Formats: sequence, C-alpha cells, structure tokens
Amino acid sequence: MPPAIPLPETPAVVPAYASERGIDPDLLETARIRLELLYGEVAASWPGFIARPGQYEMMQACLLTFLSAKAPDDEDRPGNNLAQLEAGTGTGKTVAYCLATIVASEALKKTVIVSTATVALQEQLFQKDLPRLAEIIPELQYEILKGRARYVCESRLEGVINDEVQDSLLTGEFQDAFADARWQAKGIPRDRAEAMLWFKNTAKKLHSGSWDGDIDSLAQPPEPEDWRQVQANAHACNGGQCEYFRSCAFFKARRQAASATLQVANHALILATLQTDSTLIDPGNTLFVFDEAHHLPNIAADQFSYRAPGHQRQAAHQPAHRGASPWARAACIHPAGPGSLCPTHHRMH
Ligand code: SF4
Repeated sequence: MPPAIPLPETPAVVPAYASERGIDPDLLETARIRLELLYGEVAASWPGFIARPGQYEMMQACLLTFLSAKAPDDEDRPGNNLAQLEAGTGTGKTVAYCLATIVASEALKKTVIVSTATVALQEQLFQKDLPRLAEIIPELQYEILKGRARYVCESRLEGVINDEVQDSLLTGEFQDAFADARWQAKGIPRDRAEAMLWFKNTAKKLHSGSWDGDIDSLAQPPEPEDWRQVQANAHACNGGQCEYFRSCAFFKARRQAASATLQVANHALILATLQTDSTLIDPGNTLFVFDEAHHLPNIAADQFSYRAPGHQRQAAHQPAHRGASPWARAACIHPAGPGSLCPTHHRMH
C-alpha cells in the first residue's frame, strides 16, 4: 500500500492566490493535477519512499513560483520570480524541485536548468535521480551541461600526437620505444613517454567510440598536465571551420543538451556563461533551480574576481601603506588571501 500523500496545508495552492500572482487558474489547476499524479506515482513505485509534508510544501512552492514567474517583456504582471527554499536533510528536496520543474516546464513550454554546486552533484542528479524519475515520466528529456574544459579537443589531441611523432623522428628511437613500452630502458624521460602513451590510447578510445570525450567518463582521471594539453579551449577552437567539428565531443554534447527540456548544469558554468554572449542559455525562456544555492556567492566571487599581477598588487598597497585612507586600505589585495598577515602593513586587515 503506497504511503498517503499529505493534503495541501498551504494557502499557496488556492486559486485566489493564483489570481493575485497573475497565474491563470486553469493553468494552475492542470499543473496541480499533473503534479499530484506524478507525486502519487513516485510514492507508489519507489520502494521505501515516504511522502513528507515538508517535501509536499516545497514542491507546491516551487510550482507556484514558476507559474507566476514574469517573462522579461511582462513588466506589468505581478509575478514573483524567485523563491528561496530551505529544508533539512532527508526532506527529499531533489524529488520536490524536480517534479515541480518538470510540471512547470510542460505547462509553460520552457526549458529547465537545474544547477548544482559541483560537477559531482551534477553527475549524481544526472546518473541517479533523473533516470529514476524518467521511469515514471518516459517523455522526460534530460541532458547534462558541462564546461568546455571537461571535453577533449580532438584537434588538439591529434596535434599533440603529431608533434610528438615529429619530435621522435628527430630524436630517432622515441617512436619505436612507444610501440613496445621500452621507454624506461631507452632512457626516454618518463613523463613524456607516459603522456604520449596516454594520448595515443585516449585517441584510440575516442575514435573507436568507446569513450565520449568527457573527462568524467574516463575510468582513471588523467594527469592534469596531460589533460591541459588536449582539453577543449575557446581560444584554440575554430568551431565550424574545424575538421573535427562534426565528431567534436564538446559540440556533440551541446547539441544533445539543446534538445533536452531539463538540463543539469553547475553554478560555475551558469555564471561563466553570463559573462559571455554565449547563446547556451536563454534566460527569458528558462526556469532555473539552484540547488545548494548557498555556494553561489563564493562561486560568483571566483568567477567575477580578477587576480592582479604582482606590480598591480604593489600599486594597490602604496596608498594604504602611507595610511592615506580607509578606502585605500580596503583595496589592499593579500597575496595569501584575506585574513592573512599583510607583508606590507605587517598586520591583518
Ligand atoms: S571544434 Fe573546437 S573543440 Fe572541437 S575538436 Fe575542433 S577545435 Fe577542438
């Protein structure tokens, strides 16, 4: 027997509230029925699932916020574009916001972006939670959105391999050594030989289709230096002019994500995208959920801050060093981070 679904306890679900917030009552009613149905199916089909009042309330609050959200060209509408929701561990927040956003996205015909604080949480949502929901919502189309640097650039990978081969022709035995892994006996520098083996094996996997070019789907994480040499990079990308464009792992992932109605991103990617004129996100047609939103300020500080070179830091110190003004002291940039001992002022600011 499935657990009972608690009755709505909040006035936020009554149609009068809907009209105050500018929500079409019919739209709200249809969405509520759909949400009840999906929640009931989750309760009935997930072993051990316990429907909780807090979860139910959170789900309703999410739905109402999305349905009352104003479009950018809808200034006169009395909507409420933002809900800040907090719930304890074990409330079942993921199910609550996922169901509400899925229903809102169906009702409003908008894309949903669920953003998590880390790539690991993103993977968990994508690999575990959404597949479970897709079992009861077969039409659910979801994809993962990651930064460009998490994909291999085929062009750079081929370039690195070709450069090494060219070098090995000059140095003679290097290429043979890779063939039978005798690089140790031949006295070839270990790092370079191992890196070359990794590049070649990785290229083989990519070409055979056994690897999709996403760093997170590699069985073993690569050496950071090896990955840096072959990761996709906006400055080194020729886009449609590139000979590997059609098979490019990054652009393939982007094309797939664009066709999904629910996209799983991370905060850093969303904020980085806002800094550019990228068309990856269409804010006016997107519903956003920021899971673990308390991480946003720090991630935003990382994204939007500028690390000054040494001579600029020194310049920022000069007025403070003379004790000219509190504003100048506030401009002091600590090489070792805030709260550390300032080497110029010999004190903590
Ligand atoms: S399209 Fe850009 S990222 Fe993709 S393989 Fe070519 S250069 Fe690399």
